[in-house]
Amino acid sequence: MAYKLDGKKLANEIELRLSHDINHGLHKAGRPPGLAVLRIGDDPASGIYVSNKEKACKRVGIKSFGCHLSSTTPFDEILQIINDLNSNENVDGILLQLPLPDHLDPATLLESIDPMKDADGLHTLNLGKLIKGEDGPRSCTPAGIMALLAKNHIDLCGKRAVVIGRSILVGKPMALMLQAANATVTLAHSRTKNLAELTRQAELLVVAAGKPGLIGPDYINENLVIVDVGIHRVLKNKNIGEASGYKLCGDVRSEEVEGLVDSITPVPGGVGPMTIAMLLVNTVVSWQKHCSLSLSLEDLLP
Ligand code: NAD
Repeated sequence: MAYKLDGKKLANEIELRLSHDINHGLHKAGRPPGLAVLRIGDDPASGIYVSNKEKACKRVGIKSFGCHLSSTTPFDEILQIINDLNSNENVDGILLQLPLPDHLDPATLLESIDPMKDADGLHTLNLGKLIKGEDGPRSCTPAGIMALLAKNHIDLCGKRAVVIGRSILVGKPMALMLQAANATVTLAHSRTKNLAELTRQAELLVVAAGKPGLIGPDYINENLVIVDVGIHRVLKNKNIGEASGYKLCGDVRSEEVEGLVDSITPVPGGVGPMTIAMLLVNTVVSWQKHCSLSLSLEDLLP
């Protein structure tokens, strides 16, 4: 049976460390770290994600500056709110919850966030720093995956890694981080031909396609480590319909591959909690920098 790469357990350990470091720096800083999560519109999944992020902030002692705007808020007003958060001295991190309503351009809004407060690591400057191997806030989901692999002593040097998905949020920064850790990386996407042929060569497979159950036994080889980034709410039983209730699943048919692979991240309890943990880490690192405290979390950032 595959070994479970337990993101929930590691996220709990990181939260304990963050609480300790925040308490330690609180007196000198004179204020707690602050994170503003900006939600625009009423995407129901985003509502759950934002609430989970705010609960996590509370657990470790980060002050939330939550802001929920209607989808009809004029673009200039949103820009002004971001500018106000940029200049608010109590705010160390700003996160724009994606996806945005269709009429809003995420690129312009992401660019308007102060790169020093870019808690999601998606500002062009910070993506550039990732490419150049310079310090900076890192995209939370791939950074969380790197921390989870490191915690489980998965040596990436020379490993053949395949990443499925080329989004700015997950796939691209993931490929860069794995490459920086000396893996040999192939990035696959929706136009990739013979995907299964490619993934069968992988020793590490990161699946971020956003397609429930895409990966099954045909796609894998033995001794594989699988990271399942996808998260989907699906019917428990399609034949019964809504009466069967819902369950969460990933991009991998985990029940079919568990007996074949070396290790796998569960859904839920794998990548999701690590994404939130890294958001908190980025915020606390930013706070330590703003308040001239010594940096204590660098080992967690790829
Ligand atoms: P996205 O839709 O922006 O990108 C999906 C990528 O997958 C695209 O690059 C596309 O080319 C590729 N793709 C789609 N179908 C494919 C196929 N059949 N074969 C090969 N490649 C294919 O999605 P995203 O924002 O990168 O997120 C991906 C998934 O990860 C989603 O399910 C999302 O909900 C989940 N996610 C989870 C977390 C978490 O914390 N657990 C965080 C971010 C995203």
